[in-house]
Amino acid sequence: MAKKYAGPAIGIDLGTTYSCVAVWQEQNNRAEIIHNDQGNRTTPSFVAFTDSQRLIGDAAKNQAASNPANTIFDAKRLIGRKYSDSVIKTDLQLWPFKVIADTNDNPVIVVNFKDEEKRFVAEEISSMILTKMREIAQKFLETPVKNAVITVPAYFNDSQRKATKDAGSIAGLNVIRIINEPTAAALAYGLQKRANCDESKNIFIFDLGGGTFDVSLLTIKNNVFDVKATAGDTHLGGEDFDHRMVNHFVKEFKRKHNKDISGNSRALRRLRTACERAKRTLSFDMEAIIDIDAISEGIDFCSSITRAKFESLNVDLFEKCMETVKSCLTDAKMQKNAVDDVVLVGGSSRIPKVQTLLQEFFNGKDLCLSINPDEAVAYGAAVQAALLGEGIKSVSNLVLRDVTPLSLGISTKGDIMSVLIPRNSTIPVKKEQQYQTVEDDQPAVSIDVYEGEREVASENNLLGLFTLSLPLAPRGLPVNVCFAIDADGILNVSAEEVTSGNKKDITITKDNGRLSTEEIERMIQEAGKFKDEDKKFVKKVKAMNAVEDYIYNMRKVMKDDGITSMLNSIDKMKINSAMIKGKKLIDSNNQQQETCVFVDFLRELESIFESALNKINKGYCAEESYSDSD
Ligand code: AMP
Repeated sequence: MAKKYAGPAIGIDLGTTYSCVAVWQEQNNRAEIIHNDQGNRTTPSFVAFTDSQRLIGDAAKNQAASNPANTIFDAKRLIGRKYSDSVIKTDLQLWPFKVIADTNDNPVIVVNFKDEEKRFVAEEISSMILTKMREIAQKFLETPVKNAVITVPAYFNDSQRKATKDAGSIAGLNVIRIINEPTAAALAYGLQKRANCDESKNIFIFDLGGGTFDVSLLTIKNNVFDVKATAGDTHLGGEDFDHRMVNHFVKEFKRKHNKDISGNSRALRRLRTACERAKRTLSFDMEAIIDIDAISEGIDFCSSITRAKFESLNVDLFEKCMETVKSCLTDAKMQKNAVDDVVLVGGSSRIPKVQTLLQEFFNGKDLCLSINPDEAVAYGAAVQAALLGEGIKSVSNLVLRDVTPLSLGISTKGDIMSVLIPRNSTIPVKKEQQYQTVEDDQPAVSIDVYEGEREVASENNLLGLFTLSLPLAPRGLPVNVCFAIDADGILNVSAEEVTSGNKKDITITKDNGRLSTEEIERMIQEAGKFKDEDKKFVKKVKAMNAVEDYIYNMRKVMKDDGITSMLNSIDKMKINSAMIKGKKLIDSNNQQQETCVFVDFLRELESIFESALNKINKGYCAEESYSDSD
């Protein structure tokens, strides 16, 4: 039986554009989507660095247009990838922030924070978002939270999964399971629709989010959720549709005003926000307006776009989605008419053209729109967290069987891919295969581990490699290779030379996109430092606000003629000059000021004001006290 975890366990949907956190509430027999501090059920996956502080979520997104170079989003598109990855190359041209390669070809984000250059890997940015989601849950549950289930796109590869797990560790979370987003959505569907009944049901999950696209086909019967096949694209989603619209308007602006705004990151950020809004409008209306004041060089930009135009800009991307749907059914060896329910998940699944294409593909079948597409993944993650947690009875009889999205194998003689675990195998899974040496007295054998569907091994994605030394022997010496995928979909490979018993495991090194233990440790410490800094900042803001409030109240009192007539002129002067000094302190660039400056100043204010008022209370008249004190 799987280990049960003590304490609360939350489910986090770490999205490309938005994240969502949920927790199973045994008393209500359902998962609760938790509101953030702004009252929103989803939180933008944005982190911003300013001259004075780090912002996460809504606060970061809200200031993106004025601070584009230091506002980071899309960390999920970078995580677990190499800088030279062709996918990243295209994104680089669109991001207003700077990304460089380190010596191992890992992407590194460069920002300016408190007047200093700071560098972060994608795992660190994701960890900041995870920390925020954890804090949201802690506030709601009023207890510390350590355990979490985090979701990833079904099509995430080994290194992207591991990197996401690392991000969780940096955030101080105990990541009890990584699960696939469409599988989580299926859990939500199963529970909300009470579909886990006796008869078997085939459910097709269509999950089109902000940056990734996933489909999964599951069979649900007697509380067993069996994933039959999964397919997807880790780089297709709402942001791509936004980019197409942005490019359309950049061209229009050039045509109308003969000005190119493609290099103006502030203008692009504002245009992108307007386009995203217009895209959402087009899901309900036939036309949307774009209206941006002084987008560039004081020129206002006002235009419109029809739903038909939006669809024509993206038609190839929408059709690409349908190709993926087809290939998932083929992999599952299932006819489309055997599908009982098509469930829509992810914000972009609201796009009418996507829904029409999907409905046409399934021969006019009604699509299931009843589960919330923005929250289903977090809901399912919370169900999985409850399953792994302690003492939760209402979901304890659910069984989830997921599959691996890509084939896994090793390179054999002539660069031929020998697959040990074919894609869409149910996980956890362990497969062993015997290979033989190809030369006499071969001193060693190299185990090169790949994932992918190409028959030429080197055309696939190299996950890692290691060498196993061999005793001198004629060719044909047996070597057993074992692949094991755990419940998180993470792979471990070992090889053993049978006669000598010499054995080796794969160590996923930094070269494979994985952070080393030392690096994770360093980042955990850095994350702690940020927490301290954030706390310090909050303390300072509170101290500043206290000064401001006090001055506000002083001003109110000073407007009362009854009181001011009783104050002597020296005290009046002292109070007025203290108020001016305080206002200056608050209005000035106070970023450099320490908290104690505000705390001390508040004391000074209190002492000036209170001593003046005390004199009145003691009944001194203004002129008396003036002559007294003189
Ligand atoms: P998710 O990753 O599931 O949170 O999806 C976020 C994506 O869904 C973003 O790209 C949003 O712009 C997009 N989205 C949200 N609502 C709508 C809508 N009504 N129509 C079109 N796209 C939407």
